Amino acid sequence: MASLQEQREQMVERQLKRRGVDDPAVLAAMRQVPRELFVPEALREFAYDDSPLPIEAGQTISQPYIVGLMVQAAEIRPGDAVLEIGAGSGYAAAVMGRIAGRVTAIERHETLSALARGRMRQLGYDNVEIITGDGSRGRPEGAPYDAILASATGPSVPQVLIDQLDIGGRLVMPVGDRAGEQRLVKVTRRDATHVEEEDLGAVRFVPLIGEHGWSETGATPAGPSAAPAPDRPIPAMIREAAIPAGRA
Ligand code: SAM
Repeated sequence: MASLQEQREQMVERQLKRRGVDDPAVLAAMRQVPRELFVPEALREFAYDDSPLPIEAGQTISQPYIVGLMVQAAEIRPGDAVLEIGAGSGYAAAVMGRIAGRVTAIERHETLSALARGRMRQLGYDNVEIITGDGSRGRPEGAPYDAILASATGPSVPQVLIDQLDIGGRLVMPVGDRAGEQRLVKVTRRDATHVEEEDLGAVRFVPLIGEHGWSETGATPAGPSAAPAPDRPIPAMIREAAIPAGRA
């Protein structure tokens, strides 16, 4: 059995580099952050699998490749101020925190934010702040941000988030149907009124629930957003969260 360090290295080589995630800063960060500490204890042996995994509160930790792809697309550099919407386990925020100056990550489930905060403390990642709330509104008090990452799908990119980007800032977010076709988009704010949009391909994420996302009542808890029953066998839980490579 390969050591955790070896498994991390294999993840970087096979899941990231071979698929075009090659930014040295992103690869170094993903070699460093112990993903096994961001998944429920019973799933630790699957931490470096090429798939999303179920976490607490019926949510998911994204597939490593998707985290690498999004962080690379966001062009995060040392000193950057970053906002993440949908902190989940805190893994993507931790990866970004290894590169950026400071990261603020918002999560709507208090159970998840408490766990993520504990992980940041345990690992000494003190430039990563985890907050509970509706991230679809962003966090104006910390704006402007050099990069904003949303790890949940909205019907469109909320203008309120674009307004919180610095000029030259990048926003990476899935948009589309809550349970159907979704695209990962990158929006770069060129000046006060102009943005440039790029399509990074098809993805599948859980819905962004909030004022500028979807309403909670209309949620269709299907696929990876479905809450795994506590007594479900682990392989079944993994199958439910694992969707084809290139998706989250
Ligand atoms: N990046 C995360 C990680 O590394 O574990 C994975 C995030 S998971 C795919 C999406 C998360 O978005 C879920 O934890 C969900 O609760 C959260 N979420 C959905 N709508 C939200 C909102 N309006 N504000 C904050 N979090 C939200």
